[in-house]
Amino acid sequence: MSGGAADDPYDVVVVGAGVVGCAVARALARYPLRVALVEAADDVGEGSSKANTAILHTGFDAVPGTLEAGLVRAGHRLLGAYAAEAGIPVEPVGALLVAWDEEQRAALPGLAAKAARNGHHTTRLLGAAELRRREPHLGPGALGALAVPGESVICPWTTTLAYATQAVRSGVRLLLGRRVTAVSGAPGGPHRLSTTRGPLTARFLVNACGLYADRFDALLGVQDFAVTPRRGQLLVYDKPARALVRHILLPVPGPLGKGVLVAPTVYGNVLLGPTAEDLTDRTATGTTAEGLAGLREQGARIVPALVGEEVTAAYAGLRAATGREDYRCAARPALRYVTVGGIRSTGLSASLALAEHVLGLLAECGLRTGPERPLAPVRMPNLGEAFPRPYRDAAAVARDPGFGTVVCHCEHVTRGEVRAALASDVPPAGLDGLRRRTRAGAGRCQGGHCRPALQALFEEHRRSAGRRRYGKDGGAR
Ligand SMILES: Cc1cc2nc3c(=O)[nH]c(=O)nc-3n(C[C@H](O)[C@H](O)[C@H](O)COP(=O)(O)OP(=O)(O)OC[C@H]3O[C@@H](n4cnc5c(N)ncnc54)[C@H](O)[C@@H]3O)c2cc1C
Repeated sequence: MSGGAADDPYDVVVVGAGVVGCAVARALARYPLRVALVEAADDVGEGSSKANTAILHTGFDAVPGTLEAGLVRAGHRLLGAYAAEAGIPVEPVGALLVAWDEEQRAALPGLAAKAARNGHHTTRLLGAAELRRREPHLGPGALGALAVPGESVICPWTTTLAYATQAVRSGVRLLLGRRVTAVSGAPGGPHRLSTTRGPLTARFLVNACGLYADRFDALLGVQDFAVTPRRGQLLVYDKPARALVRHILLPVPGPLGKGVLVAPTVYGNVLLGPTAEDLTDRTATGTTAEGLAGLREQGARIVPALVGEEVTAAYAGLRAATGREDYRCAARPALRYVTVGGIRSTGLSASLALAEHVLGLLAECGLRTGPERPLAPVRMPNLGEAFPRPYRDAAAVARDPGFGTVVCHCEHVTRGEVRAALASDVPPAGLDGLRRRTRAGAGRCQGGHCRPALQALFEEHRRSAGRRRYGKDGGAR
């Protein structure tokens, strides 16, 4: 899975293994092509894809007629169906766009009309009384809402992992820990990629570099847009807060995007956020006291009882804003090169539709895929609270007592799940990756209690993998 250029030259190299690059690699895996997915980090989904608001958007509020509007709408349908097949937890809780003043209430019919222009005809205006019946813990002063059925909460970690797993099982070579630093090649010839772990060659190239998509473009002499990292800070409330919120509670959108929301998560928590701060530092994923204080203030207005609830975690992610309310996707046939850039605040929702769009752009560049074939099936371990978890599954425990031994008590994660993640097709590189595959360490104590046990399981796995690789006498097999 890692390492060398055994299949070099590749038909297609996809650079960037976020949710978008993994979806593109998975789509390419349907064809008899040599494909590599190259990622600078030591795991998939380490960029914007690991720290978002985890909503499967319908696209009701996108700018009508944009590429984003069409792809989010299609992506919502595609990912909804794929999630059921692949075991990605999704809860279609629906959204309420809450108006807190007269101006916002007056904007709701316009938002319903916009939703209709985006193909969503099921939104409904709610008066204050019905809104309160639906959300009894809402703060005072809510005047009404637009109900948007279909808006759902999803596990973003499992989504990226499912795509990557299916791509790898279907023959894509996943090359982790390799930053592409330069691209060269004679006109008409293959691309020669310099990476931090040796060269690669590709007939076609896809830039799915997220926050770095403009810098990757520059490696090929392309200058189309500049990325501004737009930070979103979020607070995660502990499980008891889940009873306070039934829907995704959205504000009426302002000029900086979707605004601060309160939403349940598929893990049984409540999210408050995100902020929207335009920065220059593409690595500024830390939270700030000011940002979190602002969130608490807004959260106290939306659901006042949240103030008394325990916070489990705070995190921040960066959106790839480009100064345009749309994606920046382009085919450059002369370069046999496709850019999938500016995938701002909806890339998780649009990912599967984006992947199909990229196949079309690659065809424009001259890629002939050959006949389609079925992908290797994938069924991901369930991380969702609304679906059966292994520690409650008598049959799983009977098969492997490891599934009856809880190692992370906050999140009820068992030794069997940790071992399965460590032995999976796309294994974690560290405890953070393990958390995204199992929820271990994601709970109230943030790994304070279970970290040593998790570390020991990691070491045990490394030792036994080393023994399998080298044999008892230490000689390579
Ligand atoms: C706060 C926040 C909230 C959001 N909420 C939602 C939401 O609720 N719903 C939704 O649908 N979307 C949401 N989004 C948007 C979504 O998270 C992004 O659109 C999506 O994750 C973008 O994925 P990506 O693959 O393009 O980028 P990334 O996940 O950033 O992946 C790009 C990858 O490229 C790699 N890379 C870059 N340069 C190189 C190089 N030279 N060589 C090798 N690798 C390289 C990086 O290491 C990185 O892993 C949110 C985003 C944020 C920040």
